[in-house]
Amino acid sequence: MLKDKLRNIKILRSLKSRIFLILLIVGLVPCISMRYAILQNYEQRAVNVKISDVSTQLRILANHLITYHYLQDTSSEVINAELDQLSGLYDGRVLVINNDLRVVKDTYGISENKTIISEEVVRCIKGENTSRYDKNNGYVEMTVPITETVTLDDDKTEAAERKEIVRGVMLVSASTDTIGATLEILSRKALLVEVIVMLAIVLVSILAAKGLFKPFEKITEALNQAQEGYTDDPISVTDCLETERIGDAFNRVLGRMKMLDTSRQEFVSNVSHELRTPITSMKVLADSLISQKDVPIELYQEFMADIAEEIEREDKIITDLLSLVKMDRTSADLNISEVDIDALVELIMRRLRPIAQKRDVEVVYESVRPVTAAVDEVKLTLVISNLVENAIKYNKEHGWVKVKLDADHQYFTVEVADSGVGIPQDCLEHIYERFYRVDKSRSREIGGTGLGLAITRSAILMHRGTIKAESIEGQGTVFTIRIPLKYIPV
Ligand code: ADP
Repeated sequence: MLKDKLRNIKILRSLKSRIFLILLIVGLVPCISMRYAILQNYEQRAVNVKISDVSTQLRILANHLITYHYLQDTSSEVINAELDQLSGLYDGRVLVINNDLRVVKDTYGISENKTIISEEVVRCIKGENTSRYDKNNGYVEMTVPITETVTLDDDKTEAAERKEIVRGVMLVSASTDTIGATLEILSRKALLVEVIVMLAIVLVSILAAKGLFKPFEKITEALNQAQEGYTDDPISVTDCLETERIGDAFNRVLGRMKMLDTSRQEFVSNVSHELRTPITSMKVLADSLISQKDVPIELYQEFMADIAEEIEREDKIITDLLSLVKMDRTSADLNISEVDIDALVELIMRRLRPIAQKRDVEVVYESVRPVTAAVDEVKLTLVISNLVENAIKYNKEHGWVKVKLDADHQYFTVEVADSGVGIPQDCLEHIYERFYRVDKSRSREIGGTGLGLAITRSAILMHRGTIKAESIEGQGTVFTIRIPLKYIPV
């Protein structure tokens, strides 16, 4: 949720702004926390020093108070002067309280003879030193017991025992204004340093973000140029590994696009050429009829038969082209069903046997085991028919064609072997290309379009299968197709 919201903030969608922000935070957070920690630490220490300072003074004074019996008689000039000096020194107030909680001396002269009941004073009378720092009002308040050491005689043991008895309490509030002032000066200086550091970080962040993204800007520019068609050169931004990788990936895509474009152009020119050939023949035949006078009816009939043959050829090319276009679509067009492959091959063989007999080619079918598979029946029929037809077409007289069906637990294989003319080794890799023919004139003679194997291969690939051809020139060819028994959609 939060991630989505952040993603919707336009500025955060830029990687540059993100890096800038990260650098800024990484730089500023330690800077601010350090200032806070240092100031806090200083304040703590300064207050502690002040407390220990004042309490030392107080302890000395407390002894004097006992010596001069000040709690009983506050007229001692010396002590009063000392008390005034102390309150002047710490810019504060000193109260001397006896153990009846009565104020015997207040350097401000306000609370004398009043009874003071505060938790600190009571605790102090029990012998405990207390101190409290009031940050908001800028003072520390502390209490120090006024103790007298008395010697007690123990009758039984006849030993003397010294005991400290609390006679009263000194309550002092000392100003911490100096600490506050120092803190303020320190804080101001730290803020100045902080602002300078912040500016430096902002500057460094801007420069770093800019510098880091320069290669990306370069590659974007190069991509735009390539897209606008200014250059055909491969993109190369070697400033950093990432842009180099983007460039390489783009060059691969570009290469593939160029290849597709070339093959499309080639295909279009091949199609035009193939379609034009029968038309040219028809035109030649028609022209020769028109140019002659008194043409005998037999010649008309002969030429017309030739023209009909060319039309049939044109029709076959168009039909094959349409099948090929259909195969080029996605495999979603497959119409998968459970098919008895054995029966299917048997049927194809029965249909093709008359053609084979006409060419005096013997056709043999061997099924190693019964096979049922999830395939598109129409497309698979096309595949097997094409292969067997080719095996018959490109055969020798008294030749043979052997078809063998086999399967394992994952795939079924159909092997189509013939005793035909064979395919030269260097042509084997091209036979699946559209309009490719090993022997152009022979193929045309037997009515080939050069599209059969291209259609076959597309149909097999749609089934996620493979096709392989092995051939020995002059001896024969073996085509093997291997198709999964179960169709697995992507
Ligand atoms: P065509 O319509 O010309 O038969 P294909 O795409 O079916 O086109 O085949 C391409 C080429 O491969 C053929 O022209 C032929 O030269 C060669 N070829 C295909 N099958 C065989 C085979 N069984 N024996 C010899 N050559 C073959």
